[in-house]
Amino acid sequence: MRIAVDLNRCQFYAQCCFLAPEAFRLEAEQVLAYHPHPDDALREKVVRAAAACPTGAILIDHRDLSR
Ligand code: SF4
Repeated sequence: MRIAVDLNRCQFYAQCCFLAPEAFRLEAEQVLAYHPHPDDALREKVVRAAAACPTGAILIDHRDLSR
């Protein structure tokens, strides 16, 4: 699966890090790191993380328009 986080919308609440720590991690107070291609086995966790994000910053299976 593919994910992207709109870092302009992310407010670093870290709900995603608690719900899917394999895919999201806060590296510093305002630095979110994420895996852009998490294993499909993590889909349920990642979907829950996206649903829990207060700012709707997590996009799942988005189309990469840069290619
Ligand atoms: S839950 Fe949303 S706002 Fe919070 S750190 Fe994750 S992506 Fe950012």
